Amino acid sequence: MLTLLATPIGNLEDLSLRAIRTLKEADLILCEDTRRTKILLKHIESEQVPCWSYHTWNENSQLEPVLKQLREGKNLVLVSDAGTPLISDPGFELVRAVVQEGLKIDAIPGPCAPIVALLLSGLPCSRFQFIGFLPKTAGERKALFAECLEYPGTSICFESPHRIEKSVEELTALAPDHKLALARELTKIHQECIQGTSSELLLHIQQHPPRGELVLLIGPGTPAKLSIEEATKQVVALYRTGTSLSDATREVADMSGLRKKQLYQAALEVLALN
Ligand code: SAM
Repeated sequence: MLTLLATPIGNLEDLSLRAIRTLKEADLILCEDTRRTKILLKHIESEQVPCWSYHTWNENSQLEPVLKQLREGKNLVLVSDAGTPLISDPGFELVRAVVQEGLKIDAIPGPCAPIVALLLSGLPCSRFQFIGFLPKTAGERKALFAECLEYPGTSICFESPHRIEKSVEELTALAPDHKLALARELTKIHQECIQGTSSELLLHIQQHPPRGELVLLIGPGTPAKLSIEEATKQVVALYRTGTSLSDATREVADMSGLRKKQLYQAALEVLALN
């Protein structure tokens, strides 16, 4: 069995009882950095559990030996240096292979910086997208920010302290009044989460350059305006999936800003023609 196990992102007390038991009982722990994981194992008095290094650079060469252990029925645990494995951390290739082969897999949930940041941000949690690390080139960032500013939910990004000012400056140039949040040093002594518009956050960053680990959150945007024809197509498509015509109309009207009555009438005409 392969178990994906989340480890603390700053506070050792966040290691769950189930996580501790699973680490203690493992035949082998696959870790990004064996030295980091040994510190955790020492904390739970389990330094004797064998560890293999499994990181981005050896993921390919380690894949077969790891699969062999799993086929033999060993209990393997995959951890990253901190947080939830696979979330901007290694492990996806292994999980894909394990799922394809039909081998046993489990996950022990726990700390995950993007989720903790979302919870503290005060931004909507009902719909969100995870971006991971922001691209390093300004052109790619600009295109991504333009998408996030239209995305109808919260966008969660990782950014480094030495690039955060530049990124927020770029967001301010595109949308100075857009709601953002910046979470820092989550679960640690200096944890904070600052909320404000792009321009307010930029000013704050210039006055107090943030240090440590950061998560930048971009509040929901307004989708580009739909034409009445495009919106009608969406209502009809929703209706054909089984939604009632009035619910489908309400949903698309809310999203597009178009009038419900006008949209309902247009959809009725299309449905009558087909
Ligand atoms: N898999 C990890 C997780 O589930 O949290 C994320 C790993 S990613 C390589 C590391 C990035 O996560 C950092 O550069 C930072 O942006 C964010 N991060 C990790 N720990 C954090 C913390 N305690 N506070 C704020 N951000 C954190």
